[in-house]
Amino acid sequence: MSMRGPGGRNQFLTEEEKKNAPKVTKELLARIFSYLAPYWKQMAIVLIAIIASSVLSILPSVLTGKIIDEGLLGRDLNRLIFLIVLSLAVTLGSNLIGVLESYMNTWIAQHITYDMRNQMYAHLQKMSQSFFTSNNQGDIITRMTSDISGVQQIITNTFTSILSNTITLIVALVAMFQKNWVLAVTGIIIVPLFTLPTRKAGKTRWTLTQESQAVNDQINGILNETLSVSGQLLVKVFGMEKFEYRKYRRANEKMIKLNIRESMAGRWFRVVISTVSSVGPMLLYLVGGILMMKYNADLTVGDITVLVTLLGRMYGPVNSLLNIQVEWIRSMAMFTRIFGYYDMPVEIESAPDAITPSEAHGNIEFKNVYFQYNPERMILKDVSFKLESGHSIAIVGPSGSGKSTMINLIPRLYDVTEGSVEFDGVDVRKLDLEFLRKNVGIVTQDTYLFNGTIRENLMYANVHASIEEMEEACKKANIHDYIMKLEKGYDTPVGNRGLKLSGGEKQRISIARVLLKNPAVMIFDEATASLDSISEKAIQDAIDPLIDSRTSILIAHRLSTILAADEILVVKDGTIVERGTHKDLVSAGGVYTELYNTQFKPQITELEAA
Ligand code: ATP
Repeated sequence: MSMRGPGGRNQFLTEEEKKNAPKVTKELLARIFSYLAPYWKQMAIVLIAIIASSVLSILPSVLTGKIIDEGLLGRDLNRLIFLIVLSLAVTLGSNLIGVLESYMNTWIAQHITYDMRNQMYAHLQKMSQSFFTSNNQGDIITRMTSDISGVQQIITNTFTSILSNTITLIVALVAMFQKNWVLAVTGIIIVPLFTLPTRKAGKTRWTLTQESQAVNDQINGILNETLSVSGQLLVKVFGMEKFEYRKYRRANEKMIKLNIRESMAGRWFRVVISTVSSVGPMLLYLVGGILMMKYNADLTVGDITVLVTLLGRMYGPVNSLLNIQVEWIRSMAMFTRIFGYYDMPVEIESAPDAITPSEAHGNIEFKNVYFQYNPERMILKDVSFKLESGHSIAIVGPSGSGKSTMINLIPRLYDVTEGSVEFDGVDVRKLDLEFLRKNVGIVTQDTYLFNGTIRENLMYANVHASIEEMEEACKKANIHDYIMKLEKGYDTPVGNRGLKLSGGEKQRISIARVLLKNPAVMIFDEATASLDSISEKAIQDAIDPLIDSRTSILIAHRLSTILAADEILVVKDGTIVERGTHKDLVSAGGVYTELYNTQFKPQITELEAA
């Protein structure tokens, strides 16, 4: 008999699972049911199939009685053959129905997980950037994959196992009571005698397995720590060899003791099973014999055999049903986890009465903007500035001063804490999100290219772009000539995350990508990572002409970019501390002057050298 539950996991809950067992409310059940409801027709078929196959699977046991009484003892060969064929046919029928049932079951389970996965994916897409920065990526993937696959398990295993086992039990009991109530009651008393000790033995063994797992982890820990290069060095330098050896020996000793106990627990378990499973039938034979010989002449040998066979058929379902509680709690926990994800509020979405203007000009205005990622710290403080269509602004400032944070507020990757950001005179929170994001293009600091060809990565910005438009964008981004030199040209695969390209090439492709999108406002978050002077020059040649021709905001680290902008904002600690043109600021003796002397001025000599 299997020690594991239907889901392949252990049939006992861990302390943690017990502690985190969810409250099963009417709402939770109704919600689960709402996923099953669309498939009620298929579920009805499954239900009928389960009932039919459970009833049919009990029939051969009942027919055994007739085979003995009417066929063998009655010495009627024709009847015997008929009953045998019937019994085989019934078994075959029950199995065929079983096939139909598993097919329907899998079909339903797959469709429900399909619905749930799509819903989850669509919901996750709507989650704000802060959700992805604060949640572990592994957790998100687990929810999407294992938890939802768990649902499939629940439907194909837990739900059906409750149904089919209950029905099998009921049918077996009815059949037993019809034959003889005294023997049926005896059987009912025997079943727990059998199942309870096996559960007890299983639990002991499970506890031991868990303990030995813990000791095993401990031993691995000791080995990892002390048999590594630096670990051994530490042990040697401090002369701790004996100490470590004793620690290891103690853990090792604990391990073998546990292993012996675990293996013996398994042995006792088998003794209990084989003894009790033979005690059950023997008791029935004994009681049946006494009844037949002393009290009730109606009871036949066949009847007693039927009862014994039926008793054997009850053990499995009873044991499964005893495990159901565990499966049930796990299932509910899984649904609760999934629903927890569904219920996470979508923080950034289009307002119900969102405005979609007919055209976009790209005027941006920050009005007394305050922003914090978390309550502990205000990142932006009272930021106000205006960018008029056709102009450009360069934002400069020390690392961590809040430059990237400022631009993230424009396409609503985050929403302001206080104040407002306006696009063409409308608060971005009142604009249709799709409209807003279509009209704001960002070239981020670290460029993300997905695993595909250069063409696929470019077209991501605009699936309808023509080849001419794509090439035009690449020419402007100063990358077309490079791509043409590649053997496969635009069809060159970029590798995982674009790893097959250099940093500078990736940046220029991502500039081309934004150009292809052709937004009303362009934002460049210039990479701080230094490139060699030739790549640097190539990017500069790509960006500088764009600044003149487009409404743009640039987080600038290069002097040439700064010089090309109409206005410079100097940010420090989340506040704009200076603003003006390069000429105004360079001699003002403030933050800009310092940045100029330490960061920008050295670039002049570098560029001249290139
Ligand atoms: P750099 O020039 O180095 O890119 P920056 O001026 O663009 O810096 P930001 O990236 O805007 O600076 O960061 C401003 C501050 O906000 C930093 O102190 C940073 O630690 C913090 N910060 C940035 N992103 C988050 C986030 N997702 N959650 C919490 N804090 C953040």
